[in-house]
Amino acid sequence: MDKQQEFVLRTLEERDVRFVRLWFTDVLGFLKSVAVAPAELEGAFSEGIGFDGSAIEGFARVYEADMLAKPDPSTFQILPWRGEAPSTARMFCDILMPDGSPSYADPRYVLKRALGKAADLGFTFYTHPEIEFFLFKDSPNGRKPVPVDQSGYFDHTPHGRSQDFRREAITMLEAMGISVEFSHHEGGPGQQEIDLRYADALTTADNIMTFRVVVKEVALGQGIYATFMPKPFTEFPGSGMHTHLSLFEGDRNAFFESGAEFHQSKVARSFIAGLLRHAAEITAVTNQWVNSYKRIWGGGEAPAYVCWGHNNRSALVRVPMYKPEKVQSTRAEFRSLDAACNPYLAYAVILAAGLKGIEQGYELPPGADDDVWSLTDRERRALGIEPLPQSLDEAVRAMERSELVAETLGEHVFDFFLRNKRTEWEEYRQQVTPFERERMLAVL
Ligand code: GLU
Ligand code: MG
Ligand code: MG
Repeated sequence: MDKQQEFVLRTLEERDVRFVRLWFTDVLGFLKSVAVAPAELEGAFSEGIGFDGSAIEGFARVYEADMLAKPDPSTFQILPWRGEAPSTARMFCDILMPDGSPSYADPRYVLKRALGKAADLGFTFYTHPEIEFFLFKDSPNGRKPVPVDQSGYFDHTPHGRSQDFRREAITMLEAMGISVEFSHHEGGPGQQEIDLRYADALTTADNIMTFRVVVKEVALGQGIYATFMPKPFTEFPGSGMHTHLSLFEGDRNAFFESGAEFHQSKVARSFIAGLLRHAAEITAVTNQWVNSYKRIWGGGEAPAYVCWGHNNRSALVRVPMYKPEKVQSTRAEFRSLDAACNPYLAYAVILAAGLKGIEQGYELPPGADDDVWSLTDRERRALGIEPLPQSLDEAVRAMERSELVAETLGEHVFDFFLRNKRTEWEEYRQQVTPFERERMLAVL
């Protein structure tokens, strides 16, 4: 037994832990949990806990259903909303096959494999997500939701629900070892943003899974309701999960080069070129729901065109210019992804696209200085600026042809994902919507 495992076993006693929840994530990004008694943990560390993989979305075919969940002791945390003593803890798990080999269906493994590839090239991948979401007065149950307030960007309203909510949520996140850098009211009524401090991408992906649970728990505790749905309203901005990206070589930021234009190294330029070149084919993963495309094409500062710029919020990739002389903070902000993605898979394909740019030495096209939304199609075409996929259907078609995504996700996840998303699209396109009835019923 290693030191971290011993630490966990000791803490179980010291903190009077009665339940240990073992967490993992299915292919579509939903959190799964099985609670075990503390006495089972030693066995879980050495062999894993068995479960029926065929009951988990995207995991196994029925004839190879047995799988094992093996807890990662470095992710041990007490769940603050379950009380102090006796208490409940959680750990994220890696998913194994009965012979102990990693499961190809485990999103955490997909990301670990991509990070391993970066490590082979000498890089650690750091990420810093800005997570947006809406707060509603109660659970919508299919009705049109009512936001908790009518405030907007950076608003501070006395006695406002939003700041009380953010304070409690952030306190809980910090209690679980997740550092928060900024938080504020976002542009839409009831819309919030909380930004996590940068960490390696595996930690960030775990943190995002925890974040979604904490935000929903705190909301329910306050009698309100939180959603990460990318575009709950036609008339207000959607919720994104812009993520700031950088590569480090040891403790040196590989995106920084003193004296280079904008202090941007060749590594940074090729990485961004990779993001742009492969943007369309990775979009089904970074924006995985039919509703994701309502956000991308619904305005409200979501990026819809494949280009990059400095402080250009209409671009897919923004290179912030706040403190260019600060070596460690040189980074690129990727703006298409939304918080309803599977963060493990999304960070895996983003990293793979960037690394491809570095390996192949892609040239970075000129940055876009204009607001690309306000250009005409013809002007954009003249600048070589392509749109992101217009719908889940288009995104899935681009993914189907992608060697990069097939290789990064592995055959099993790639095939499951495409099958699942084609079905979602087919069901969606058969729907007759209120839009059609309202516009057409009376006049046609
Ligand atoms: N809510 C916008 C989006 O969907 C982003 C607003 C911002 O720039 O933070 O991406
Ligand atoms: Mg924002
Ligand atoms: Mg941002």
